[in-house]
Amino acid sequence: MTDTAFDEKEKDQEELSAPQYQGVQSPQGMHDVLPVDQPYWARLRAVLEKEAAVFGFERIETPIMERYEVFEKGTGAVTDIVEKEMYTLVTRGNETLALRPEGTPGVVRAYLQHGMTSLPRPVKLWYFGPMFRHDRPQKGRYRQFHQFGLESLNSASAANDVEIIIMIGRILKKLGIKGVVFHLSSLGDPACRPAYEKQLKAHLRAHKSKLCLDCKKRLEKRPLRIFDCKEEKCQRVARVAPKMLDNLCKDCHRHFKEVLEMLDEIEVSYQLDSAIVRGLDYYTRTVFEVIVGGEAGEGALAVGGGGRYDGLIEVLGGRPTPAVGVAMGVERMIEVMRLQKAVVPVTAFRPDVFLAQLGFLAKKKSLKLMTELMNSGVAAAAALDRDSLKAQLKIADRYKVPFTIIIGQKEVLEDSAIIREMQGGTQEVTPRRKLIDVIKKKIQLFKEKQ
Ligand code: AMP
Repeated sequence: MTDTAFDEKEKDQEELSAPQYQGVQSPQGMHDVLPVDQPYWARLRAVLEKEAAVFGFERIETPIMERYEVFEKGTGAVTDIVEKEMYTLVTRGNETLALRPEGTPGVVRAYLQHGMTSLPRPVKLWYFGPMFRHDRPQKGRYRQFHQFGLESLNSASAANDVEIIIMIGRILKKLGIKGVVFHLSSLGDPACRPAYEKQLKAHLRAHKSKLCLDCKKRLEKRPLRIFDCKEEKCQRVARVAPKMLDNLCKDCHRHFKEVLEMLDEIEVSYQLDSAIVRGLDYYTRTVFEVIVGGEAGEGALAVGGGGRYDGLIEVLGGRPTPAVGVAMGVERMIEVMRLQKAVVPVTAFRPDVFLAQLGFLAKKKSLKLMTELMNSGVAAAAALDRDSLKAQLKIADRYKVPFTIIIGQKEVLEDSAIIREMQGGTQEVTPRRKLIDVIKKKIQLFKEKQ
């Protein structure tokens, strides 16, 4: 299929999507990935798999459900994700499970459970799969969506943070996504964050009357969330608040400086942004968001985010182990590919030959012939549900095949077949036993002439 044909198919799909159908719909915020979407998904998977292999990341798949405590402890009990958005269920066996809202805690659980801690470091893993968050569905925000993620476990070096940023930059570039900027900050570590949070809380308390209800509530437990708040009045308070970047301890400062120096060496656009705090509890030091669409704010879209999580492995029962990772939103990336008209290769079924039949006996013979053709590497199409030759030849025309094999009553009796050359309309009869060889030669000649 050409790209134009693909565009037309997409248009057909749009027309189809104002249907008469009034029956059961997919659950709110959960979407079908239709055949017309597949070229984007396939392209994304192919690029990801190639890059992961080049950088030595191995694939891991974890269940879409985990025991509740994996997220309660890992993602954090007082995060919006766990508190408000997680799909939780009690099984018949009375276990409390949760549909994963993100990939990292499950990967860390598997890393610990399967003794990967003793593997040479860093242990580099990638995943791809559906995530579930019971958020208010809106454009670009779904209840079932997909993420791919990269995790570099047992890696303390700033170079590992930068490796992940480089990989994401390369993947997005290969997907044809332009205008990517990494918004970067550091969240410090247990040596410097508590003192900073104390300062921040004092600032927020002093301006408490100017904050929205949510920020007032979050002030004591999660003061950093003020930077995430979309309310203009809270942003005004946040703009003049003390910043983590100005309060890093010596080690965190050195680590962050190394990250920036390495980024300066390579072609990655980044900007420092103290408003990047990430919604999850486990982040330490480097945090970043991958933004597409120019300046943050107007039209900007976050396609991914990540950072360092040096405390998470311990929280989930392992020894203190530094790690860094990223999670990318697949639907968002595909949305950007569509908006930016990225070219995706479309692999459509292109048969070499069409098989037409007349009468029940011929139909039976055709099925066997079809298998023989496939076995000898000839891609064959047929419309075995049609009986009229005219209708079948019309379909053959649509496939744009160079040849059609026709088997009617007479050919069944004579053990032969007709080969019709579609462009000129010439026909020749070939004995059945020679048919495969003859058609293969014809196809080869035809392809050589192309
Ligand atoms: P997070 O795990 O929240 O850091 O999200 C990482 C990326 O996943 C975001 O930048 C989005 O691209 C994508 N994402 C997160 N939540 C959703 C959602 N509800 N629907 C679609 N994509 C999402």
